[in-house]
Amino acid sequence: MSEPTKLKKIAVLTSGGDAPGMNACIRAVVRTAICQQIDVIGVYQGFQGLKEGLFCPLELGSVANIIQRGGTFLKTGRCPDFVKPAFRKLCWEKLVEHNVQGLVVIGGDGSLTGAEIFAREFNFLTVGIPGTIDNDIAGTDYTIGFDTAVNTALDAIDKIRDTAASHDRLFIIEVMGRESGYIALEVGLAGGAEDIFIPEAPAALDTAIQRIQRGIQRGKKSSILITAEGQKPGRAYDLAEAIRKKTGFEAKVCVLGHIQRGGSPTARDRNLASRLGAAAVRTLLGNHSAQMVGIQNNQEVMVPIAQVIKAKNPLNLQLLQLVRDLSI
Ligand code: ADP
Repeated sequence: MSEPTKLKKIAVLTSGGDAPGMNACIRAVVRTAICQQIDVIGVYQGFQGLKEGLFCPLELGSVANIIQRGGTFLKTGRCPDFVKPAFRKLCWEKLVEHNVQGLVVIGGDGSLTGAEIFAREFNFLTVGIPGTIDNDIAGTDYTIGFDTAVNTALDAIDKIRDTAASHDRLFIIEVMGRESGYIALEVGLAGGAEDIFIPEAPAALDTAIQRIQRGIQRGKKSSILITAEGQKPGRAYDLAEAIRKKTGFEAKVCVLGHIQRGGSPTARDRNLASRLGAAAVRTLLGNHSAQMVGIQNNQEVMVPIAQVIKAKNPLNLQLLQLVRDLSI
């Protein structure tokens, strides 16, 4: 282990897709750092803001009254230019110019990838925090924002179930998760869905239809299928069309979309964000770079980002079978 650095100033930014709990995480970074006599600057608009020097000093009061707010007050965004070494160099120069010695990046796997490259390239003390509703990051049991997104989707599904049951309807509900079925699986089980269509284990349409038909024969009033948005838009609509062609059933489609990103974070997300924000500052203080802080078995852990981005967070596919077994 290298000698601990005397840290005087760090920067924090949010990058990629926003997730509820990011504000709580920034608050924890700022307050933990200030308690250790470290100054903190906030970087607006993710990696783009690094290059532009969109910096603001953050005090204890700057993060007051934000723990309960969704989104990120520092703003976030994609920054395609960050893949270019020349652009990253300008970012590094801005940090050096402002005497910043450490960087905390809160974001998804893309942001963590960028953080890892940046840390290595300039030997710059950088720590990542997993913030994404998708929960698709290896090395941590949960990512910041996942629990809130699941509860938001579940609330909507419960409401749809009321109307579905009143009209004897089949509903297909599309939840977020382009490459990950985490949200779909979690809400499918909690929402009592008939079946789930996820990128990791595509369901056979015929089997899903048989299950729905069996349910109707025994008097079920409504059926719900959950689908993760998948690679292409229109996934739920495509599924509805395929079911109509095969059976004549007119399925109603509801795409939940961006409501899943918003809203006040749940207690779980606020607490996870607070723990990981504090852990990130401790990690910087220990002079550990290119690390992600995560949660494993309810303990804060530090995992090399290089290891995180190589792996996938595996889904518990037994839960998929449980969803099917319980919806007979
Ligand atoms: P998320 O962090 O939510 O996964 P993205 O995948 O869009 O979101 O990544 C966010 C940002 O991280 C990108 O806009 C880019 O600035 C940076 N990034 C992603 N991949 C790389 C990469 N291979 N090299 C450098 N930066 C990257």
